[in-house]
This record gives sequence, C-alpha cells and structure tokens, in this order.
Amino acid sequence: MVPSRMLIKSILAATLVAASFLPSVVAAQTARSPVAPRRELVESVVREAYEKFRSDPSGKNADYIPYLAQVDSKMFGIAIVTTDNQVLTLGDVKYSFSIQSISKVFTLALAMEELGPDKVFAKVGSEPTGRPFNSPLAVVDMPSHSGNPLVNAGAIATTSLISGQNAAEKWNKILDFYSKAAGEKLVLIDEVYKSEAATNTGNKALSYLLAKYDRIYADPFESVDIYTKQCSVGVNATQLARMGATLANNGINPATGEQVIKRENIPEILSTMTMAGLYDGSGGWAWHVGLPAKSGVGGGIVAIAPGKGAIAVFAPPLDEAGNSVKAQKVIEYVAQRLNYNLYSPSSVGLK
Ligand code: GLN
Repeated sequence: MVPSRMLIKSILAATLVAASFLPSVVAAQTARSPVAPRRELVESVVREAYEKFRSDPSGKNADYIPYLAQVDSKMFGIAIVTTDNQVLTLGDVKYSFSIQSISKVFTLALAMEELGPDKVFAKVGSEPTGRPFNSPLAVVDMPSHSGNPLVNAGAIATTSLISGQNAAEKWNKILDFYSKAAGEKLVLIDEVYKSEAATNTGNKALSYLLAKYDRIYADPFESVDIYTKQCSVGVNATQLARMGATLANNGINPATGEQVIKRENIPEILSTMTMAGLYDGSGGWAWHVGLPAKSGVGGGIVAIAPGKGAIAVFAPPLDEAGNSVKAQKVIEYVAQRLNYNLYSPSSVGLK
C-alpha cells in the first residue's frame, strides 16, 4: 500500500519532534529535571495534540488590524520550554508573529519592577471586566476605571507608568525588558505597528476616557503609541515559550540564568493572568485548564505551569473573545494529559 500524504506528514512531524527536542544545556542532558515531566511523555502528548488539532477549521484571523487579516491562517506551531531549559518544538515555530496582548504581562512585570506591586495595584487595579478586551463601557462602569493590566485600558494605563525622559527611552526600556525575558533580542514588526497605528482610534478613545478619571499617568496619546509598539513586537513560538518559562522559573530566564523579574512579583503576575489572561474567556479557561495564561490577537497563547515550564502555541484563527482556537485546544489537551492544572490536588502530590 502506498502511504498516504497524511501518514508521511505524521512521520515527518514525529521526526521533527524527536530531532528538535534537544536539551539546550549540557547539564540538562545528564541530570533529569526534578520538576519537568519526562521528555518522552511530553513529546508524545504534544505530537498527539498537534495531529488532533492541526486541521481544525474553527475561528477567524483578527481583521480589525488589517495586517493580521493577511497572515496565513494555517500556520500552527507549538513550543515548550521547561524551567531546566529543555526545549521542545513542533510546526511553525520560526515564524515571527506579533506578540499583541501577551506584551501586557511583561509591561506589567516591568511596572512592578519600577513601582512595586502595591502602587501598580492602586494605580491600575486588578478586577475582571466581564466585557470585551477593548470595552470603553468597562472604563466608565468600573470603580477602578482601568479594570486590570491585561485589558486594553488597564494595559495603556500600565504602559503610562513606565518611567523615562521621553517616549523613545520608555519604549527602548520596554523592548529591552521583553528581550531579556525571551533571552534573545526582539524587534518591532514595523508593518504591524504601522497597520495598527493607522487604525487604533478605539485605543486613543480609551486613553482619553482614562484621562477623564485621572487613571493615566503620562500623555494619553504617547502612552497609546508606546502600547501599540509593544503589541507589534515580533516573537516566534519558542521565544514566547521562553518568556513564559521565565515566569514559571521564579523570574529567572532558564536559558540565560538572568533574574529578569523579581521573584516576589511572580504571584501577582500569574494570578492576574489566571483572572483575565483570556479576557471574557478567562472563566471558562480556568474551569477547563487551571493555568495562568495570556492570549494575543496575533494568534499566540502562552500558558505557565509554575516550577515546570511554559507552553506557547501560535495559530492565527481566533474565537469571539479574541483567543486563538487551536492554541486553547492544544494547551487544554496537553495540560490535562500532563496533569498541570494548578487546582488539581494531584498536581501537588496529593492522591
Ligand atoms: N494591539 C491589540 C489592541 O490593542 C491587542 C489586543 C489583543 O491582543 N487582544 O487591540
């Protein structure tokens, strides 16, 4: 019998996993991680998830940012980075997509480095909005107005907290911080920035609404511009997984060993991700998956298994809430099979 194209593709995919799952540090080759699950198991579960969901037709690329509508919606990549810096990749993991709202997590982390958690909480807050991520109604209705650092209004307020002599200095500081979390120099995707800057009237409106309530801390349009740049930073799935692994590893980048984020700030960051990381899909996500995560309309989602590692998935088609459909399905599948749910008693060793 002649093997089908599907079968050949599956064999190729399996080979790719096996070939790409190379520990990045020599130490990891000899000492098995005390926390990360066994690599053979992770490999087979990720391969299963990849095959199960690769042809899933649901969802639609974001189109309110014109650039995103043209991205190939069939692209699909999965990357895992563990806290002992083992790297597993499969599919389209070299393609650089815009980080979009996942950037909000790292600007929050930077604001906390500079101001400490209490000031950030007082100035931005951390409550679910129960509304779409770009809702002006939430700004009007909520006592904090800014909602939380992971919706657009709260994120623009958080960006406005970053210190600097001028916009360029603030932006460079943000980009440098993201690069440290990724362990590689990240760059702006200029076309995404231009496309979004030409169409971001809604975010400008949010910034002026925040100004009305004294909940923005620098010039509103300057803050929106820096925020738009931070959303246009390019990452591939592996870089995104490494950024997540930095959060999973108490703020230390597992590849570079650098303490990028203060360890005492990690719990607030992760709990905010659990509460609002998938916007108004966050409740369902917590119910089904039980892991802090963050999505972006570029098609990326990164989920954190504290102490173990992070999984990043890139697949552009989104659901109604603006979350990648395939990424949610893959992470739910992998988290269930590997018993990552934080709220499962067995995840902390209870029978
Ligand atoms: N840059 C996008 C915006 O401001 C980010 C939204 C998202 O990823 N959910 O609308």
